[in-house]
Amino acid sequence: MIFIRSAQEIETIRHSALLVSATLTEVAKMIRPGITTLSLDKMAEQFIRDNGASPSFKGYHGFPFSLCISVNEVVVHGFPSGYELKDGDIVSVDCGCYKNGYHGDSAYTFAIGNVPADVLKLMKVTKESLFLGMAQAKDGNRVGDISYAVENFTNRMHGYGVVRDLVGHGVGKNLHEDPQVPNHGRRGDGKRLKAGMVLAIEPMINMGTRDVYTRDDKWTVATRDHKPSAHFEHTTAVGKTKGEPLSNFAPIEAAEKENKELNSSYY
Ligand code: MG
Ligand code: MG
Repeated sequence: MIFIRSAQEIETIRHSALLVSATLTEVAKMIRPGITTLSLDKMAEQFIRDNGASPSFKGYHGFPFSLCISVNEVVVHGFPSGYELKDGDIVSVDCGCYKNGYHGDSAYTFAIGNVPADVLKLMKVTKESLFLGMAQAKDGNRVGDISYAVENFTNRMHGYGVVRDLVGHGVGKNLHEDPQVPNHGRRGDGKRLKAGMVLAIEPMINMGTRDVYTRDDKWTVATRDHKPSAHFEHTTAVGKTKGEPLSNFAPIEAAEKENKELNSSYY
């Protein structure tokens, strides 16, 4: 069952999604070499609760943390830990917030210090593919139009591996709702999109093989070839002419830029 949300409901989802963006902005201010991923999680949980919301992920099917923090070859669902970030790492931070009965869900991949040019390109292409996917999230299109746009750009044009084992999803009263939104597929395939649907579109793109495996902790998904993976996600309202992001990268990008300048002595 795919829900069509009222304008009021979409504003409530936007409120939750923007709180996710604000949380990721706080992460962007703190993230640097030497910081533990667990300290980012602790800060994020406090920030979310201070804003009258709860972290969507904590306790979700037993997930023990507020953020998924996925470093380098980890694709998604990484556990925050005592690991200290180091120069050259890339870090996907995925966050969900639940407030007023609705979830928001968004993810951003950060570069720590001097990241090799080919890995920066993977991140850039993955982020661009999210926007290409969102452009297809319009009334009358089908889910496969989003999937194709992501796969065509990342795989056919850039040769990256598109993760198939994990997909985007509807988001609203539940964190994961119908429909599934794969990052590979054919134009014109899948469920028809209608204005008012809300989708979490989230390309997970690998430098090498698309194949992934789940580690013994039952959550952490990593690339088979141990090459890096990037992940960007927006909660997106299906619109009349294009998808509208309800989460927002602009404050994250501004904080990321300021942080890089402040911390330039680390690098
Ligand atoms: Mg997410
Ligand atoms: Mg998601």
